[in-house]
Amino acid sequence: PLVLGIESSCDETGVAVVRGHDLLSNVVSSSLDEHVRYGGVVPEVASRAHLEAMVPAVDRAVREAGVALRDLDAVAVTAGPGLASALMVGVGAAKALAVTLGTPLYGVNHLDAHIAVDVLEHGPLPEPTIALLVSGGHTSLALVRDITSDVSLLGETLDDAAGEAFDKIARLLGLPYPGGPMIDRAAADGDPTSLTWPRGLANARGGHRPYDFSFSGLKSAVARWVRERREAGLDVPVADVAASVQEAIADVLTSRAVQACRDLGVAHLQVGGGVAANSRVRALAEQRCATAGIELRVPRRGLCTDNGAMVAALGSELVRKGRPASDLWLGTDPSRPIGEVHVVPAPRER
Ligand code: ATP
Ligand code: MG
Ligand code: FE
Repeated sequence: PLVLGIESSCDETGVAVVRGHDLLSNVVSSSLDEHVRYGGVVPEVASRAHLEAMVPAVDRAVREAGVALRDLDAVAVTAGPGLASALMVGVGAAKALAVTLGTPLYGVNHLDAHIAVDVLEHGPLPEPTIALLVSGGHTSLALVRDITSDVSLLGETLDDAAGEAFDKIARLLGLPYPGGPMIDRAAADGDPTSLTWPRGLANARGGHRPYDFSFSGLKSAVARWVRERREAGLDVPVADVAASVQEAIADVLTSRAVQACRDLGVAHLQVGGGVAANSRVRALAEQRCATAGIELRVPRRGLCTDNGAMVAALGSELVRKGRPASDLWLGTDPSRPIGEVHVVPAPRER
């Protein structure tokens, strides 16, 4: 199927066209620069930027794909989770397109789309696959039996997301927002073994599930250490802190994911979300999966962070599997949990 996907859950306005598992175009326009001075995404600023970027992005995506709007088989859009006012712009645009073109409309889950985007790189997801979703707002391990209908949560972070940990620690180090890519870059000149940091929930004790994560202890430990250094008049070795923090995060994420594959006897691991762009996460996942005999699937970096391709890819899978479309009552769902893959029409009373 030929599917157009729209993403507007945070600060990226993404529009892409996919045919089956082929990515025909992928336009991403980010309002990141406008948020830098606030040190985080400001919802009102983001939604205004989506309004300005949306129509040009749709135009460009269709043009670059070399297709006509009337050829589309479906329109897919992120319905949640995300910032309500930002989601609304994408959902509004998708409804307008679907109504005027007379195509089905699919409201999809942003988190499941971070997993589904992998089909554009490596073809259909083997069933079952374990997915490690690591992004700015989420850190989850899920068992994917069918990306269109059967995604179940194995564990998740009990506090900060991995991306959030990167962003907060970068800020402590005086690196600009967004911190993840900055730490990745700074880490290249550092020694990952120079400092050791707590690996949250390392022995899976307490009331949590074996595949849960915790990153707030790491953040506090770094904050304390940095403060003590500064108070003692010592400088903070930014590259070494970046490298050792990155090592700690990559270690926890990949060891937990590989353990889940082993425990459940699943031979495929998919890693998605913005933190999947991290070089150490990618390298360590590769190394550990190779050792464990697990097939690793990580899309190219540009498909890990937010984009329209992930939405179009999930939309395409939903059409391919004959799943029911959403209806024009589609709303936004800012806290939609992973696994509620798409919005199905509620049976309405007459
Ligand atoms: P969510 O998907 O949970 O709704 P989001 O859409 O804001 O959140 P993504 O766009 O998937 O998140 O990912 C953004 C996060 O990824 C940010 O926290 C950013 O710092 C992090 N990130 C991006 N590139 C890298 C990298 N190279 N290394 C580490 N972190 C990175
Ligand atoms: Mg973003
Ligand atoms: Fe995201």
